Amino acid sequence: EGKIVTIGEILVEIMATTLGHGFLEAQTLIGPFPSGAPAIFIDQVGKLGHPAAIVSAVGDDDFGTVNLERLKQDGVDVSAVAIHPGAATGSAFVRYRPDGGRDFVFNMRDSAAGRIAATPEAQAVLAEAGHLHVMGSGLPVPAVFGMVSASIPAIKARGGTVSFDPNIRVEMLRDPAGKAAFQSVLAATDLFLPSGEELSLFSGEADEGRAIAALLDAGVQEIVLKRGKAGASHFDRSGRTDMPGFVVEEIDPTGAGDSFGATFLVARRLDKSVEDCLRYANAAGARTVTVKGPMEGTSSFAELDAFIAATPVGAA
Ligand code: ATP
Repeated sequence: EGKIVTIGEILVEIMATTLGHGFLEAQTLIGPFPSGAPAIFIDQVGKLGHPAAIVSAVGDDDFGTVNLERLKQDGVDVSAVAIHPGAATGSAFVRYRPDGGRDFVFNMRDSAAGRIAATPEAQAVLAEAGHLHVMGSGLPVPAVFGMVSASIPAIKARGGTVSFDPNIRVEMLRDPAGKAAFQSVLAATDLFLPSGEELSLFSGEADEGRAIAALLDAGVQEIVLKRGKAGASHFDRSGRTDMPGFVVEEIDPTGAGDSFGATFLVARRLDKSVEDCLRYANAAGARTVTVKGPMEGTSSFAELDAFIAATPVGAA
């Protein structure tokens, strides 16, 4: 089986150590933590021992190096991450509010992530991919969408598969070109990984049952709906499986959806039952939220087994 490959942004996150509002006064920060939804996803794939690669770009700077070293250490092929001497690796400053909300300052404008391109290295990695994971957050970058749409038919033609985590801000769907891009990926998706309102946004149906039916009719093979601390539900043509989440103290929610999706996908490719895939994925998501830093809580199978054995599950 070929590698799981994803395309998209790599950045660092720097986090306030105190709860509060915004960055208008001086405060103590921790980081830089490796981040970016595609990077978190692929790091989790690597940790599980599955062949993994990412197509991306970073600056020739310490923020880029901190990411590349982490991904390599966790088994990810970074040969298709371009190092741009003329652009910086992006950064995001985050502070959690007492009510659970978050304030961000993004330094992403003109960052290296906006310069992701179909380099020879990117094309080599994509030509060997057994599975492409598409992240909605990267699709507005024309070169990313170009690589995604060119790779999907090639991957399918050699028997590979596609997963899609929409991971969007609602505004992206208001733009007609953005909406068309999302719909074209959805039409080729084997495994769809929405959370919250994304299910209704993509199906056009407010009712959960109808939304699922519409997506299955459109050709999606499997849908896994992420439900935060309530766990997750799996849907395919043969029916529905619900799995309650694990009971943990949430310290930092960033990265849960990405580690969840990566773990479900790898477990599925190892032919585990739907129940086992959901249990492992819930465990990966739950472990992520107990640790500060988006990628600091990614897990090996040994860590997931130990966590599952030691952690209570919530009410179904
Ligand atoms: P994000 O965008 O924050 O990465 P998401 O919205 O894509 O996440 P969530 O449903 O928030 O996805 O989280 C993904 C999975 O992680 C959940 O389905 C669940 O298994 C696990 N999870 C998330 N939050 C918690 C929590 N507080 N307690 C236990 N498990 C959690």
